[in-house]
Amino acid sequence: MKKILFVTSEAYPLIKTGGLADVSGSLPIALDALGHDVRIVMPAYADVLASLGDLPSKRINQAGGEVEIFETELPGTSVPVWLVSHQGAFDRSGNPYLAENGKSWPDNAERFSLLCRVSVEIAMNRMGFGWKPEIVHCNDWQTGLIPALLEDEGDRPATVYTIHNLAYQGLFPKELFQKLGLPQHFWSYNALEFWDQLCFLKGGLVYADRINTVSPNYAVEIQGKEFGCGMDGLLKERKDRLSGIINGIDEEAWNPATDPLIPHAFELGNMAGKDANKAALQKYFKLAPDKNVAVIAMVGRTVQQKGIDLVIEILPKLMDLTVQLAILGSGEKKYEQTLKHWNSLYPERIALKLGYDEPLAHLIEAGSDLFLMPSRFEPCGLNQMYSQRYGTVPIVRCVGGLADTVEDANPANLEQGKASGIVFRESNAEALLQAVTRALELFNAKTEWKKIQKTGMKKDFSWKQSAIKYLDLYALAEQDRQSLV
Ligand code: ADP
Repeated sequence: MKKILFVTSEAYPLIKTGGLADVSGSLPIALDALGHDVRIVMPAYADVLASLGDLPSKRINQAGGEVEIFETELPGTSVPVWLVSHQGAFDRSGNPYLAENGKSWPDNAERFSLLCRVSVEIAMNRMGFGWKPEIVHCNDWQTGLIPALLEDEGDRPATVYTIHNLAYQGLFPKELFQKLGLPQHFWSYNALEFWDQLCFLKGGLVYADRINTVSPNYAVEIQGKEFGCGMDGLLKERKDRLSGIINGIDEEAWNPATDPLIPHAFELGNMAGKDANKAALQKYFKLAPDKNVAVIAMVGRTVQQKGIDLVIEILPKLMDLTVQLAILGSGEKKYEQTLKHWNSLYPERIALKLGYDEPLAHLIEAGSDLFLMPSRFEPCGLNQMYSQRYGTVPIVRCVGGLADTVEDANPANLEQGKASGIVFRESNAEALLQAVTRALELFNAKTEWKKIQKTGMKKDFSWKQSAIKYLDLYALAEQDRQSLV
Protein backbone atom coordinates (compact mmCIF):
# COMPACT_ATOMS: atom_id res chain seq x y z
CA MET A 1 0.00 0.00 0.00
CA LYS A 2 1.41 3.38 -1.03
CA LYS A 3 0.81 6.63 0.82
CA ILE A 4 0.09 9.32 -1.73
CA LEU A 5 -0.53 13.02 -1.16
CA PHE A 6 -2.44 14.40 -4.15
CA VAL A 7 -2.31 18.21 -4.41
CA THR A 8 -4.68 20.01 -6.74
CA SER A 9 -6.40 23.37 -7.20
CA GLU A 10 -9.76 21.80 -8.15
CA ALA A 11 -11.55 18.46 -7.78
CA TYR A 12 -14.94 17.33 -9.05
CA PRO A 13 -17.60 17.48 -7.61
CA LEU A 14 -16.32 20.03 -5.08
CA ILE A 15 -15.21 22.59 -7.65
CA LYS A 16 -14.51 22.37 -11.36
CA THR A 17 -13.34 24.62 -14.16
CA GLY A 18 -11.95 21.95 -16.48
CA GLY A 19 -10.36 18.56 -17.00
CA LEU A 20 -8.03 18.89 -13.98
CA ALA A 21 -11.07 18.65 -11.70
CA ASP A 22 -12.22 15.48 -13.44
CA VAL A 23 -8.82 13.86 -12.94
CA SER A 24 -8.58 14.99 -9.32
CA GLY A 25 -12.07 13.67 -8.61
CA SER A 26 -11.40 10.28 -10.22
CA LEU A 27 -7.76 9.17 -10.03
CA PRO A 28 -7.60 9.25 -6.19
CA ILE A 29 -10.75 7.11 -6.05
CA ALA A 30 -9.27 4.62 -8.52
CA LEU A 31 -6.04 4.45 -6.49
CA ASP A 32 -8.06 4.01 -3.29
CA ALA A 33 -9.98 1.16 -4.93
CA LEU A 34 -6.65 -0.50 -5.71
CA GLY A 35 -5.88 -0.47 -1.98
CA HIS A 36 -3.73 2.67 -1.65
CA ASP A 37 -3.87 5.45 0.94
CA VAL A 38 -4.50 8.65 -1.04
CA ARG A 39 -5.24 12.02 0.53
CA ILE A 40 -6.10 15.17 -1.35
CA VAL A 41 -4.99 18.71 -0.46
CA MET A 42 -6.75 21.64 -2.09
CA PRO A 43 -7.77 25.23 -1.29
CA ALA A 44 -10.79 25.84 0.95
CA TYR A 45 -12.71 27.95 -1.58
CA ALA A 46 -15.70 29.75 -0.10
CA ASP A 47 -18.17 27.94 -2.37
CA VAL A 48 -16.74 24.55 -1.42
CA LEU A 49 -16.93 25.27 2.32
CA ALA A 50 -20.46 26.61 1.93
CA SER A 51 -21.56 23.43 0.15
CA LEU A 52 -20.13 21.15 2.86
CA GLY A 53 -21.56 22.70 6.03
CA ASP A 54 -19.74 22.37 9.38
CA LEU A 55 -16.44 20.52 9.16
CA PRO A 56 -13.84 19.64 11.78
CA SER A 57 -10.66 21.66 11.37
CA LYS A 58 -7.17 22.10 12.70
CA ARG A 59 -5.48 25.48 13.20
CA ILE A 60 -1.73 25.82 12.89
CA ASN A 61 0.57 28.82 12.84
CA GLN A 62 2.42 28.78 9.57
CA ALA A 63 3.49 31.03 6.70
CA GLY A 64 3.38 34.13 8.89
CA GLY A 65 -0.19 33.60 10.02
CA GLU A 66 -2.75 31.09 11.08
CA VAL A 67 -3.61 28.31 8.65
CA GLU A 68 -6.84 26.40 9.14
CA ILE A 69 -7.21 22.98 7.56
CA PHE A 70 -10.72 21.59 7.20
CA GLU A 71 -11.10 17.84 7.01
CA THR A 72 -13.62 16.19 4.74
CA GLU A 73 -13.90 13.45 2.08
CA LEU A 74 -14.52 13.44 -1.63
CA PRO A 75 -18.34 13.26 -1.61
CA GLY A 76 -19.64 9.72 -1.63
CA THR A 77 -16.21 8.20 -0.97
CA SER A 78 -13.81 7.67 1.90
CA VAL A 79 -10.95 9.53 0.20
CA PRO A 80 -9.81 12.21 2.71
CA VAL A 81 -9.62 15.82 1.56
CA TRP A 82 -7.76 18.55 3.43
CA LEU A 83 -9.02 22.03 2.59
CA VAL A 84 -6.48 24.79 3.20
CA SER A 85 -7.68 28.17 4.43
CA HIS A 86 -5.56 31.21 5.28
CA GLN A 87 -6.50 34.84 5.88
CA GLY A 88 -8.96 35.24 3.05
CA ALA A 89 -6.69 33.69 0.39
CA PHE A 90 -9.46 31.39 -0.83
CA ASP A 91 -12.38 32.83 1.04
CA ARG A 92 -14.10 34.40 -1.97
CA SER A 93 -16.74 32.97 -4.24
CA GLY A 94 -16.59 32.48 -7.98
CA ASN A 95 -13.88 31.13 -10.23
CA PRO A 96 -10.81 29.77 -8.40
CA TYR A 97 -8.38 31.66 -10.62
CA LEU A 98 -10.27 34.59 -12.12
CA ALA A 99 -12.00 37.63 -10.70
CA GLU A 100 -15.36 38.74 -12.07
CA ASN A 101 -13.69 40.94 -14.68
CA GLY A 102 -12.21 37.79 -16.23
CA LYS A 103 -8.66 38.70 -15.14
CA SER A 104 -6.54 36.59 -12.78
CA TRP A 105 -7.01 37.35 -9.08
CA PRO A 106 -4.25 39.88 -8.34
CA ASP A 107 -2.91 37.77 -5.45
CA ASN A 108 -2.76 34.41 -7.26
CA ALA A 109 0.98 34.04 -6.61
CA GLU A 110 0.45 34.47 -2.87
CA ARG A 111 -2.63 32.22 -2.82
CA PHE A 112 -1.06 29.27 -4.58
CA SER A 113 2.35 29.66 -2.96
CA LEU A 114 0.47 29.26 0.31
CA LEU A 115 -1.13 26.05 -0.97
CA CYS A 116 2.36 24.82 -1.91
CA ARG A 117 3.95 25.70 1.43
CA VAL A 118 1.18 24.05 3.43
CA SER A 119 1.40 20.96 1.21
CA VAL A 120 5.14 20.74 1.90
CA GLU A 121 4.43 20.90 5.64
CA ILE A 122 1.89 18.09 5.30
CA ALA A 123 4.28 16.10 3.09
CA MET A 124 7.01 16.40 5.74
CA ASN A 125 4.55 15.38 8.48
CA ARG A 126 4.89 18.69 10.30
CA MET A 127 1.18 19.50 10.52
CA GLY A 128 0.33 17.09 13.29
CA PHE A 129 -1.60 14.62 11.14
CA GLY A 130 0.75 11.74 12.03
CA TRP A 131 0.99 10.74 8.40
CA LYS A 132 3.84 11.03 5.93
CA PRO A 133 3.35 10.22 2.26
CA GLU A 134 5.83 8.30 0.12
CA ILE A 135 4.68 10.15 -2.98
CA VAL A 136 3.56 13.73 -3.49
CA HIS A 137 1.58 14.00 -6.71
CA CYS A 138 1.40 17.63 -7.92
CA ASN A 139 -0.79 18.99 -10.69
CA ASP A 140 -0.31 22.05 -12.91
CA TRP A 141 1.33 25.39 -12.11
CA GLN A 142 -0.67 26.02 -8.93
CA THR A 143 1.33 23.25 -7.24
CA GLY A 144 4.63 23.84 -9.07
CA LEU A 145 6.57 25.21 -6.09
CA ILE A 146 6.11 21.95 -4.15
CA PRO A 147 8.80 19.84 -5.91
CA ALA A 148 11.18 22.82 -5.66
CA LEU A 149 10.57 23.44 -1.95
CA LEU A 150 10.78 19.72 -1.17
CA GLU A 151 14.17 19.60 -2.87
CA ASP A 152 15.54 21.56 0.10
CA GLU A 153 14.21 19.01 2.61
CA GLY A 154 16.07 15.95 3.86
CA ASP A 155 14.24 12.61 3.78
CA ARG A 156 11.56 13.97 1.49
CA PRO A 157 8.91 11.93 -0.34
CA ALA A 158 9.29 11.28 -4.08
CA THR A 159 7.53 13.77 -6.35
CA VAL A 160 5.44 13.35 -9.49
CA TYR A 161 4.30 16.37 -11.44
CA THR A 162 1.44 16.12 -13.92
CA ILE A 163 1.05 18.68 -16.69
CA HIS A 164 -2.60 19.02 -17.61
CA ASN A 165 -1.96 22.05 -19.80
CA LEU A 166 1.50 23.47 -20.45
CA ALA A 167 0.07 26.77 -21.67
CA TYR A 168 -0.80 27.84 -18.12
CA GLN A 169 2.55 28.48 -16.45
CA GLY A 170 1.97 30.62 -13.37
CA LEU A 171 4.19 33.52 -14.50
CA PHE A 172 4.59 36.49 -12.16
CA PRO A 173 6.82 39.59 -11.96
CA LYS A 174 10.25 39.14 -10.39
CA GLU A 175 9.27 41.21 -7.31
CA LEU A 176 6.98 38.40 -6.25
CA PHE A 177 9.93 36.05 -5.93
CA GLN A 178 11.22 38.26 -3.09
CA LYS A 179 7.77 38.89 -1.68
CA LEU A 180 7.02 35.17 -1.39
CA GLY A 181 10.30 34.70 0.48
CA LEU A 182 11.52 31.93 -1.80
CA PRO A 183 15.11 30.76 -1.17
CA GLN A 184 17.51 32.87 -3.25
CA HIS A 185 19.14 29.90 -5.00
CA PHE A 186 15.87 29.30 -6.88
CA TRP A 187 16.38 32.55 -8.81
CA SER A 188 18.16 31.05 -11.79
CA TYR A 189 17.16 29.96 -15.27
CA ASN A 190 17.98 26.43 -14.08
CA ALA A 191 15.31 26.84 -11.40
CA LEU A 192 12.23 29.08 -11.08
CA GLU A 193 13.24 31.97 -13.31
CA PHE A 194 11.80 32.19 -16.81
CA TRP A 195 13.00 35.22 -18.79
CA ASP A 196 13.24 37.39 -15.67
CA GLN A 197 9.86 36.28 -14.36
CA LEU A 198 8.92 33.89 -11.57
CA CYS A 199 7.50 30.69 -13.08
CA PHE A 200 5.62 28.25 -10.81
CA LEU A 201 5.43 25.61 -13.55
CA LYS A 202 9.22 25.36 -13.72
CA GLY A 203 9.31 24.21 -10.10
CA GLY A 204 7.62 21.03 -11.28
CA LEU A 205 9.47 20.69 -14.57
CA VAL A 206 12.93 21.17 -13.06
CA TYR A 207 12.60 19.43 -9.71
CA ALA A 208 10.00 16.66 -9.85
CA ASP A 209 11.44 13.15 -9.83
CA ARG A 210 9.01 12.25 -12.62
CA ILE A 211 6.93 14.43 -14.94
CA ASN A 212 3.97 13.24 -16.95
CA THR A 213 1.32 14.65 -19.23
CA VAL A 214 -2.24 13.42 -19.59
CA SER A 215 -1.65 11.62 -22.87
CA PRO A 216 1.41 9.90 -24.40
CA ASN A 217 1.17 11.95 -27.59
CA TYR A 218 1.19 15.30 -25.75
CA ALA A 219 4.33 14.20 -23.85
CA VAL A 220 6.11 13.93 -27.20
CA GLU A 221 4.55 17.05 -28.73
CA ILE A 222 5.66 19.38 -25.92
CA GLN A 223 9.30 18.54 -26.56
CA GLY A 224 9.02 20.47 -29.84
CA LYS A 225 8.69 24.20 -30.58
CA GLU A 226 5.07 24.11 -31.81
CA PHE A 227 3.59 22.80 -28.55
CA GLY A 228 6.43 23.46 -26.10
CA CYS A 229 5.25 26.92 -24.93
CA GLY A 230 8.88 27.93 -24.48
CA MET A 231 9.59 24.92 -22.23
CA ASP A 232 10.56 22.51 -25.02
CA GLY A 233 14.32 22.81 -24.34
CA LEU A 234 13.91 21.97 -20.66
CA LEU A 235 11.46 19.17 -21.41
CA LYS A 236 13.81 17.66 -23.97
CA GLU A 237 16.59 17.76 -21.38
CA ARG A 238 14.34 15.85 -18.96
CA LYS A 239 12.85 13.51 -21.53
CA ASP A 240 14.08 10.43 -19.66
CA ARG A 241 11.82 11.48 -16.78
CA LEU A 242 8.86 12.53 -18.95
CA SER A 243 6.02 10.25 -20.05
CA GLY A 244 2.30 10.33 -20.78
CA ILE A 245 -0.67 8.55 -19.20
CA ILE A 246 -4.06 8.97 -20.79
CA ASN A 247 -6.84 10.12 -18.48
CA GLY A 248 -9.70 7.78 -17.83
CA ILE A 249 -13.28 8.97 -17.56
CA ASP A 250 -15.78 8.60 -14.75
CA GLU A 251 -17.55 5.60 -16.22
CA GLU A 252 -20.34 5.78 -13.66
CA ALA A 253 -21.24 9.41 -14.26
CA TRP A 254 -20.83 8.97 -18.01
CA ASN A 255 -22.73 5.77 -18.65
CA PRO A 256 -25.66 6.07 -21.08
CA ALA A 257 -27.33 3.01 -19.56
CA THR A 258 -27.60 4.56 -16.08
CA ASP A 259 -27.02 8.32 -16.49
CA PRO A 260 -29.70 10.08 -14.37
CA LEU A 261 -29.09 13.34 -16.24
CA ILE A 262 -30.47 12.05 -19.56
CA PRO A 263 -34.17 11.40 -20.16
CA HIS A 264 -33.77 8.08 -22.03
CA ALA A 265 -31.27 5.36 -21.13
CA PHE A 266 -29.62 3.44 -23.95
CA GLU A 267 -26.78 1.02 -24.59
CA LEU A 268 -25.33 -1.09 -27.34
CA GLY A 269 -28.05 -3.37 -28.67
CA ASN A 270 -30.76 -1.02 -27.45
CA MET A 271 -30.23 2.33 -29.14
CA ALA A 272 -33.84 3.54 -29.27
CA GLY A 273 -33.11 5.80 -26.31
CA LYS A 274 -30.46 7.62 -28.32
CA ASP A 275 -33.06 8.71 -30.91
CA ALA A 276 -35.40 9.78 -28.11
CA ASN A 277 -32.60 11.84 -26.55
CA LYS A 278 -32.00 13.50 -29.90
CA ALA A 279 -35.65 14.51 -30.01
CA ALA A 280 -35.40 15.75 -26.41
CA LEU A 281 -32.31 17.79 -27.24
CA GLN A 282 -33.99 19.35 -30.28
CA LYS A 283 -36.99 20.17 -28.15
CA TYR A 284 -34.87 21.66 -25.35
CA PHE A 285 -33.12 23.96 -27.80
CA LYS A 286 -36.22 24.58 -29.99
CA LEU A 287 -34.36 23.16 -32.97
CA ALA A 288 -36.47 21.83 -35.84
CA PRO A 289 -37.63 18.34 -34.80
CA ASP A 290 -36.07 16.21 -37.52
CA LYS A 291 -34.41 12.87 -36.89
CA ASN A 292 -32.70 12.74 -40.27
CA VAL A 293 -30.67 15.89 -39.85
CA ALA A 294 -27.26 15.38 -38.22
CA VAL A 295 -26.93 17.20 -34.90
CA ILE A 296 -23.35 18.37 -34.41
CA ALA A 297 -22.37 19.31 -30.88
CA MET A 298 -19.65 21.22 -29.11
CA VAL A 299 -19.19 21.53 -25.34
CA GLY A 300 -16.27 23.34 -23.78
CA ARG A 301 -14.38 26.53 -23.34
CA THR A 302 -14.94 28.98 -26.20
CA VAL A 303 -11.28 29.83 -26.60
CA GLN A 304 -8.81 29.66 -29.46
CA GLN A 305 -7.20 26.51 -28.05
CA LYS A 306 -10.41 24.62 -28.75
CA GLY A 307 -10.63 25.87 -32.35
CA ILE A 308 -13.92 27.70 -31.79
CA ASP A 309 -12.74 30.35 -34.28
CA LEU A 310 -12.45 27.64 -36.96
CA VAL A 311 -15.99 26.50 -36.25
CA ILE A 312 -17.22 30.09 -36.54
CA GLU A 313 -15.33 30.45 -39.83
CA ILE A 314 -17.16 27.50 -41.40
CA LEU A 315 -20.62 28.36 -40.07
CA PRO A 316 -21.78 29.94 -43.39
CA LYS A 317 -20.78 26.74 -45.25
CA LEU A 318 -22.29 24.51 -42.58
CA MET A 319 -25.60 26.26 -43.12
CA ASP A 320 -25.53 24.92 -46.71
CA LEU A 321 -25.44 21.37 -45.34
CA THR A 322 -28.15 19.29 -43.67
CA VAL A 323 -26.99 19.89 -40.11
CA GLN A 324 -28.00 21.41 -36.82
CA LEU A 325 -25.55 22.67 -34.21
CA ALA A 326 -25.80 22.48 -30.44
CA ILE A 327 -23.15 24.52 -28.66
CA LEU A 328 -22.61 24.78 -24.90
CA GLY A 329 -19.72 26.75 -23.52
CA SER A 330 -18.23 29.89 -22.17
CA GLY A 331 -14.94 31.65 -22.53
CA GLU A 332 -13.74 34.58 -24.58
CA LYS A 333 -16.42 37.23 -24.97
CA LYS A 334 -15.71 37.94 -28.65
CA TYR A 335 -16.49 34.32 -29.58
CA GLU A 336 -19.54 34.27 -27.31
CA GLN A 337 -20.87 37.40 -29.06
CA THR A 338 -20.33 35.96 -32.55
CA LEU A 339 -22.04 32.72 -31.60
CA LYS A 340 -24.99 34.67 -30.17
CA HIS A 341 -25.30 36.49 -33.47
CA TRP A 342 -25.39 33.23 -35.46
CA ASN A 343 -27.89 31.78 -33.02
CA SER A 344 -30.19 34.74 -33.66
CA LEU A 345 -29.80 34.31 -37.44
CA TYR A 346 -30.66 30.58 -37.42
CA PRO A 347 -32.56 29.84 -34.19
CA GLU A 348 -33.93 26.54 -35.56
CA ARG A 349 -30.51 25.32 -36.69
CA ILE A 350 -27.87 26.78 -34.39
CA ALA A 351 -28.56 26.25 -30.69
CA LEU A 352 -26.47 28.00 -28.09
CA LYS A 353 -26.23 28.01 -24.34
CA LEU A 354 -23.55 30.20 -22.85
CA GLY A 355 -22.38 29.22 -19.38
CA TYR A 356 -21.54 26.06 -17.50
CA ASP A 357 -24.26 23.42 -17.37
CA GLU A 358 -23.37 19.86 -16.36
CA PRO A 359 -26.82 18.29 -16.96
CA LEU A 360 -27.07 19.89 -20.39
CA ALA A 361 -23.58 18.59 -21.26
CA HIS A 362 -24.96 15.08 -20.63
CA LEU A 363 -28.08 15.65 -22.72
CA ILE A 364 -25.94 17.01 -25.55
CA GLU A 365 -23.64 13.98 -25.49
CA ALA A 366 -26.66 11.67 -25.44
CA GLY A 367 -28.71 13.42 -28.10
CA SER A 368 -26.14 14.45 -30.71
CA ASP A 369 -24.84 12.54 -33.70
CA LEU A 370 -21.44 14.17 -34.04
CA PHE A 371 -19.14 16.02 -31.66
CA LEU A 372 -16.62 18.66 -32.77
CA MET A 373 -13.14 19.02 -31.23
CA PRO A 374 -10.96 20.94 -33.69
CA SER A 375 -8.40 21.81 -30.99
CA ARG A 376 -5.11 23.56 -31.76
CA PHE A 377 -3.61 21.53 -28.95
CA GLU A 378 -5.25 19.13 -26.52
CA PRO A 379 -3.31 17.62 -23.61
CA CYS A 380 -5.92 14.86 -23.24
CA GLY A 381 -9.50 16.00 -23.80
CA LEU A 382 -12.43 14.25 -22.18
CA ASN A 383 -15.40 14.99 -24.37
CA GLN A 384 -14.15 12.81 -27.22
CA MET A 385 -14.21 9.88 -24.79
CA TYR A 386 -17.66 10.74 -23.39
CA SER A 387 -18.85 11.04 -26.99
CA GLN A 388 -17.61 7.60 -27.98
CA ARG A 389 -19.28 6.12 -24.93
CA TYR A 390 -22.58 7.78 -25.93
CA GLY A 391 -22.48 6.69 -29.58
CA THR A 392 -21.80 10.28 -30.63
CA VAL A 393 -19.08 10.19 -33.26
CA PRO A 394 -16.25 12.66 -32.54
CA ILE A 395 -14.62 14.78 -35.23
CA VAL A 396 -11.18 15.59 -33.84
CA ARG A 397 -7.93 17.14 -34.91
CA CYS A 398 -5.00 14.70 -34.86
CA VAL A 399 -3.34 16.28 -31.86
CA GLY A 400 -2.47 15.41 -28.24
CA GLY A 401 -4.84 13.06 -26.47
CA LEU A 402 -7.36 13.28 -29.30
CA ALA A 403 -4.92 11.38 -31.51
CA ASP A 404 -4.43 8.80 -28.74
CA THR A 405 -8.12 8.10 -28.18
CA VAL A 406 -9.90 8.35 -31.55
CA GLU A 407 -9.22 6.12 -34.57
CA ASP A 408 -10.04 7.62 -37.94
CA ALA A 409 -12.81 6.11 -40.04
CA ASN A 410 -10.53 5.48 -43.02
CA PRO A 411 -11.25 2.40 -45.14
CA ALA A 412 -8.55 0.27 -43.45
CA ASN A 413 -9.70 1.09 -39.90
CA LEU A 414 -13.34 0.60 -40.89
CA GLU A 415 -12.51 -2.77 -42.37
CA GLN A 416 -10.70 -3.86 -39.19
CA GLY A 417 -13.46 -2.59 -36.91
CA LYS A 418 -11.12 0.00 -35.32
CA ALA A 419 -12.68 3.24 -36.61
CA SER A 420 -14.30 5.31 -33.86
CA GLY A 421 -14.38 8.86 -35.25
CA ILE A 422 -13.19 11.29 -37.87
CA VAL A 423 -9.62 12.55 -37.50
CA PHE A 424 -8.17 15.44 -39.50
CA ARG A 425 -4.65 16.89 -39.56
CA GLU A 426 -4.34 20.54 -40.48
CA SER A 427 -5.50 23.28 -38.13
CA ASN A 428 -7.55 25.31 -40.57
CA ALA A 429 -11.16 25.89 -41.59
CA GLU A 430 -10.85 24.02 -44.87
CA ALA A 431 -9.61 20.82 -43.21
CA LEU A 432 -12.36 21.07 -40.59
CA LEU A 433 -15.04 21.51 -43.23
CA GLN A 434 -13.71 18.53 -45.19
CA ALA A 435 -13.82 16.45 -42.02
CA VAL A 436 -17.44 17.46 -41.36
CA THR A 437 -18.38 16.63 -44.96
CA ARG A 438 -16.72 13.22 -44.63
CA ALA A 439 -18.53 12.66 -41.33
CA LEU A 440 -21.88 13.47 -42.95
CA GLU A 441 -21.23 10.96 -45.74
CA LEU A 442 -20.64 8.30 -43.10
CA PHE A 443 -23.71 9.43 -41.16
CA ASN A 444 -25.78 8.76 -44.25
CA ALA A 445 -24.14 5.37 -44.89
CA LYS A 446 -26.05 3.68 -42.09
CA THR A 447 -24.11 0.37 -41.90
CA GLU A 448 -20.73 2.07 -41.54
CA TRP A 449 -22.21 4.59 -39.10
CA LYS A 450 -23.50 1.88 -36.78
CA LYS A 451 -20.13 0.15 -36.92
CA ILE A 452 -18.30 3.35 -35.89
CA GLN A 453 -20.76 3.98 -33.05
CA LYS A 454 -20.40 0.41 -31.83
CA THR A 455 -16.59 0.52 -31.86
CA GLY A 456 -16.61 3.71 -29.78
CA MET A 457 -19.19 2.45 -27.31
CA LYS A 458 -17.22 -0.73 -26.63
CA LYS A 459 -13.95 0.99 -25.76
CA ASP A 460 -12.44 0.81 -22.29
CA PHE A 461 -11.84 4.33 -20.95
CA SER A 462 -11.82 3.27 -17.31
CA TRP A 463 -9.67 4.97 -14.69
CA LYS A 464 -8.46 1.61 -13.42
CA GLN A 465 -6.11 1.15 -16.39
CA SER A 466 -4.69 4.64 -15.93
CA ALA A 467 -4.38 4.29 -12.14
CA ILE A 468 -2.25 1.17 -12.61
CA LYS A 469 0.04 3.18 -14.91
CA TYR A 470 0.30 5.93 -12.28
CA LEU A 471 1.38 3.33 -9.71
CA ASP A 472 4.19 2.28 -12.06
CA LEU A 473 5.15 5.95 -12.41
CA TYR A 474 5.17 6.40 -8.62
CA ALA A 475 7.52 3.40 -8.34
CA LEU A 476 9.87 4.96 -10.89
CA ALA A 477 9.76 8.29 -9.03
CA GLU A 478 10.71 6.51 -5.80
CA GLN A 479 13.61 4.74 -7.53
CA ASP A 480 14.85 8.07 -8.87
CA ARG A 481 14.51 9.61 -5.43
CA GLN A 482 16.46 6.70 -3.87
CA SER A 483 19.24 7.04 -6.39
CA LEU A 484 19.84 10.61 -5.14
CA VAL A 485 20.22 9.61 -1.51
P1 ADP B 1 -10.27 21.52 -20.67
O1 ADP B 1 -9.15 21.94 -21.59
O2 ADP B 1 -11.29 22.62 -20.53
O3 ADP B 1 -9.82 20.96 -19.37
P2 ADP B 1 -11.34 18.87 -21.21
O4 ADP B 1 -12.05 18.29 -22.40
O5 ADP B 1 -10.12 18.14 -20.74
O6 ADP B 1 -11.04 20.39 -21.51
O7 ADP B 1 -12.35 18.93 -19.99
C1 ADP B 1 -13.41 19.80 -19.96
C2 ADP B 1 -14.45 19.25 -19.05
O8 ADP B 1 -15.34 20.28 -18.67
C3 ADP B 1 -15.31 18.21 -19.68
O9 ADP B 1 -15.78 17.34 -18.66
C4 ADP B 1 -16.45 19.02 -20.29
O10 ADP B 1 -17.61 18.29 -20.50
C5 ADP B 1 -16.65 20.05 -19.21
N1 ADP B 1 -17.18 21.33 -19.69
C6 ADP B 1 -16.49 22.30 -20.29
N2 ADP B 1 -17.30 23.37 -20.53
C7 ADP B 1 -18.52 23.03 -20.07
C8 ADP B 1 -19.79 23.70 -20.01
N3 ADP B 1 -19.94 24.92 -20.50
N4 ADP B 1 -20.83 23.07 -19.43
C9 ADP B 1 -20.66 21.83 -18.93
N5 ADP B 1 -19.51 21.14 -18.96
C10 ADP B 1 -18.44 21.72 -19.52
